[in-house]
Amino acid sequence: MVNKIDHIGIAVKNLRDALNFYENVLGLKSAGTEVVEEQKVKVAFLPIGDTEVELLESTEEDGPIARYIEKNGEGVQHIAYRVDDIEKAIEVMKEKGIRMIDEKPRYGAGGAKIAFCHPKSTCGVLIELCQRD
Ligand code: ZN
Repeated sequence: MVNKIDHIGIAVKNLRDALNFYENVLGLKSAGTEVVEEQKVKVAFLPIGDTEVELLESTEEDGPIARYIEKNGEGVQHIAYRVDDIEKAIEVMKEKGIRMIDEKPRYGAGGAKIAFCHPKSTCGVLIELCQRD
């Protein structure tokens, strides 16, 4: 059902500081930043090999990433798996009893269609399904 790891989402307090580490220490290059208003988040994608690292900084104090950091601290927040057909993937997940946070695809950075599965159904990992056209 899933093809590959599309990206790994990492919650950071400060995008500039995080980019300093990822670019100047690890030597990755940001492919650009984008604000996703709906998720109250500013993201930077850093391609590496066949996948990407997604750095997420909250743009609002009450945003999901701010709340995540408050509870867990900075760190890996989700893993995104690439799917070909997200509507179908959501349907299959529901059929198999997986609790979905998003029952309909929503907009993700870079124009992807995304949907999150609830960690209670996925061994504790927040899983994002991600379709790119
Ligand atoms: Zn993501």
